[in-house]
Amino acid sequence: MTSDEIFEHLRERDVNKIIELYRKADKIREKYVGNKVFLRGIIEFSNYCNNTCSYCGLNSNRPGLKRYRMSIDEIISAARICAEHNIGTVVLQSGQDHGFSVDWMVEVIRKIKKEFGLVVTLSLGQRDYHELKEWKAAGADRYFLRFETSDDELYKKLHPGKNASFTDRIKVLEMAKSLGYEIGSGIMIGIPGQKLESLLDDIALFNELDVDMIGVGPYIPHPETELGKQKIQLQNVDELVYKVIAITRITKPYTNIPATTALATVNFLDGYKKGLMCGANVIMPNITPIHYKSLYEIYPTRLSKLSEEELIQKIKSFIIECDREVGKGRGDSLNFLRRREAF
Ligand code: SAH
Repeated sequence: MTSDEIFEHLRERDVNKIIELYRKADKIREKYVGNKVFLRGIIEFSNYCNNTCSYCGLNSNRPGLKRYRMSIDEIISAARICAEHNIGTVVLQSGQDHGFSVDWMVEVIRKIKKEFGLVVTLSLGQRDYHELKEWKAAGADRYFLRFETSDDELYKKLHPGKNASFTDRIKVLEMAKSLGYEIGSGIMIGIPGQKLESLLDDIALFNELDVDMIGVGPYIPHPETELGKQKIQLQNVDELVYKVIAITRITKPYTNIPATTALATVNFLDGYKKGLMCGANVIMPNITPIHYKSLYEIYPTRLSKLSEEELIQKIKSFIIECDREVGKGRGDSLNFLRRREAF
């Protein structure tokens, strides 16, 4: 697809043409990655954060938010839910938390590997080479870090202060890739100040970085953040998210693409199904213990009221309703496997 064609799709208002785009993406999804939908259990193990990202409810400027970091035993108990439900991957996510040591995370990874043999994805923000290397050696498989937007000016507005340059973030992804991690990245759509044109660059960057897993979600204002009070200029944000998922599937057919939690938040639970129908092949149920979940409030969501079990059961039934199959095993990105074979 040329950049002009992509732009046409993004601007398209004719419902039939939009549905045609989704159908095309769905066919390509079936052809390249098949009918299995892989689940990833996400454990939000810490909401401590050193950063001041203006969109995120965990940012360190936010007073009054109770902070927590789960113990290793609590993390292992949560990971057990994956093992019990045949979910092959556990995702460990936190704020930009520098309150745990490299070795602490090594122990977490080793224990999960030893007890359950799960695939381990890390989503711990911007980390340095040494940390990424140690965690890879301990058995971590994948690293997930969204670049959020490829618009440099907008990126700066979103990430005031140090430790927050766009190039640094891209460097982390490249380091992770060079260390042999499967890499995931992604964007938010609807950020105040974001232009439709910049989505073209985002899609191009997915290709340039050869990302193995691409998460696209709507920006959801958090009332207690600086950005939460600002106006969103882009129109029909949900629809734009589905369109970008579809275009991403068509332009990068072997990647894993989740129907994101943010989509399921703005379009309560239906977002999962709609995402699956326009190119997505992954869902990431949140398996953080319910008493911590509401404290990991990157944005307000009703989803945190569902227990881990309820959510997994609901997601599994959606998958069947969409005539798809619940994937078992690792669910590695074919994009990653193909890149590895090429060397
Ligand atoms: N500290 C980690 C994890 C951040 S939370 C990191 O920096 O990668 C994971 C993702 O949630 C972010 O990358 C961002 O894309 C998304 N997110 C954060 N705040 C959001 C909001 N208000 N609306 C929608 N998505 C948001």
